[in-house]
Amino acid sequence: MPEPIVQVIELSKTYRNGDIEVKALQKVTLTVEAGEFIAVMGPSGSGKSTFLNLIGCLDRPSSGSYRLNGEEVSQLNDNQLAEIRSRQIGFVFQTFNLLPRATALQNVALPLIYRRDGRQLDRALEILTMVGLSDKANFKPNQLSGGQQQRTAIARALVNEPSLILADEPTGNLDTKAGEEVMVILQDLHRRGKTIILVTHEETIAEHASRMVRFRDGRIVSDQPIISPLSAIEILVKLPVEADPAG
Ligand code: ADP
Ligand code: MG
Repeated sequence: MPEPIVQVIELSKTYRNGDIEVKALQKVTLTVEAGEFIAVMGPSGSGKSTFLNLIGCLDRPSSGSYRLNGEEVSQLNDNQLAEIRSRQIGFVFQTFNLLPRATALQNVALPLIYRRDGRQLDRALEILTMVGLSDKANFKPNQLSGGQQQRTAIARALVNEPSLILADEPTGNLDTKAGEEVMVILQDLHRRGKTIILVTHEETIAEHASRMVRFRDGRIVSDQPIISPLSAIEILVKLPVEADPAG
């Protein structure tokens, strides 16, 4: 058996603000095998983002173990975490987090800043083409629709070929059609063997994944396979055609 891509054991995170303590995660144990597509669900405040930020090496746990591709990362310092993040993790946020003054192409090329082969823009264009945006390469984020901005952000997350793709409510700011377009891409990546953890509070979005993990009060309360996931491409062709705000 190959190493699981993610193995967390009794992972806890407590936030302290002055005298107030919030136990955001309480002894969460979970294993994710390479190639899985997991939806993390749960009510607001249940610890979903805290969990994803820990998995994404954006933060450190208060206690517990986290092995990423077999390497214990729970005790690493900020520089070491940043290094792991840039090599192994692609993160997609609800609010896209694109640089407003940079073009779509420049945004996608950003994580390649340390690559010195001079082919950063070729590589960025290749990925932008994969998400269907080759004709928007020179557009700034405010010239793109929400769905196009999120697809740009997904391209940026993919450009370094991470082993793990994490998405925190990636469809939360999108209409149904743009949301399904994002899910088409995620399902396609899953088919090609990428490992994906998607946080959402929308049941229909979660049902595109192949395993559903539910959080409540900082704990996992259920963990089940999704026997027949919804097909984003099928949903998309059934949706009524709307005007595209960015043309
Ligand atoms: P979810 O993503 O499921 O809505 P979060 O992981 O964002 O939940 O939050 C879990 C709990 O931790 C909430 O009670 C939230 O208020 C608290 N929390 C999250 N981030 C912080 C922080 N930086 N400081 C203090 N409390 C936080
Ligand atoms: Mg959240």
